Amino acid sequence: MTFKAYRIREEGKSFVGSWESLAESDLPDGEVTIEVAYSSVNYKDALSANGNRGVTKEYPHTPGIDAAGVVLKSQDERFTAGDEVVVFGYDLGMNTDGGYGQKIRVPASWVLHKPATLTLADSMAWGTAGFTAALSVQKLERMGIVPDKGPVLVTGATGGVGSVAVALLAKLGFGVIAVSGKPEQSDWLLELGATKVIGRDDVLALKGKAMAKPMYQAAVDTVGGDMVSAIIPQLMPEGAVTTCGMIAGIKLEASVFPFILRGVSLLGVDSVEIPLAEKQAVLDKAANEWALPTLSSMTTEVGRNDLPAVLEKVLNGQGTGRYRVDLNRD
Ligand code: NDP
Repeated sequence: MTFKAYRIREEGKSFVGSWESLAESDLPDGEVTIEVAYSSVNYKDALSANGNRGVTKEYPHTPGIDAAGVVLKSQDERFTAGDEVVVFGYDLGMNTDGGYGQKIRVPASWVLHKPATLTLADSMAWGTAGFTAALSVQKLERMGIVPDKGPVLVTGATGGVGSVAVALLAKLGFGVIAVSGKPEQSDWLLELGATKVIGRDDVLALKGKAMAKPMYQAAVDTVGGDMVSAIIPQLMPEGAVTTCGMIAGIKLEASVFPFILRGVSLLGVDSVEIPLAEKQAVLDKAANEWALPTLSSMTTEVGRNDLPAVLEKVLNGQGTGRYRVDLNRD
């Protein structure tokens, strides 16, 4: 039986995507074969679909770093046919064919059991971006942030990671200051729970200062570069900033003063290679105590035909919220 997959092929200097028919024998080796119901769109998917060799070395390739679906076959006794499962991170969609195929085959050590209180569709509304937001908030909580100590800044607020971070921090009772380059989305960010929306330049204006007025208890930075550099001197004593992305740049310029005079912390967040048990724990939290009432309103679902346009939008930093892909819809 054939299945459909969004294949990226290298044609001269271009990378061209189209939906192709593949056979199960085209799938890589692995213990668990999954019929994929939903995937999602993350910035890394947009890079893979556009030939970024830092993400995907060999083409033709099927991107999709997230997948949710039903087990068809398993050589590992922890899974049986019919189990609903979720896979995100590790090598899925990078150099292993990913969730933009109606079938995937992966090592059992990548597969998570879907919690009973989360639908397959909602697990992909969260997706890697949402889980990264949750991991960022969890890191800040472990540093002792609490709502009455001051506001938390979220950068790239309309993006996948940023929007989930805004909604989650608001649910947990924090005052959230959303930083966005899309002023037209301010009302939406306030609906998600932000208490205030500011522009990127409001933060970047203080770039280069060794120390600045302490404004924020903590920050979830999703863009990197100058933004995270500018946040560090604006953190309150014992404050912390998480960093997970590099859409604004990979270089960090900082003085040691905020670290040695205010005890601030810079916390790296990696959602890709963390142990499976940590991934399962964050998925379980998303399904239960961190369930987001605003999740549906921040998620746009697309079928197969609309996927290329959404990948383009996300590549250009023009995405808003989360994008879920229904693999069974044109
Ligand atoms: P999105 O494309 O959904 O969102 C990124 C947002 O960043 C945009 O919507 C925009 O928000 C803002 N932005 C875009 N360009 C710039 C710029 N030049 N300067 C400042 N802000 C900008 O991406 P995701 O939310 O999915 O991912 C965010 C980052 O996190 C990416 O770099 C991604 O690779 C990384 N990531 C890392 C993970 C990890 O495990 N470490 C996992 C998941 C993602 P606005 O207009 O509101 O400012």
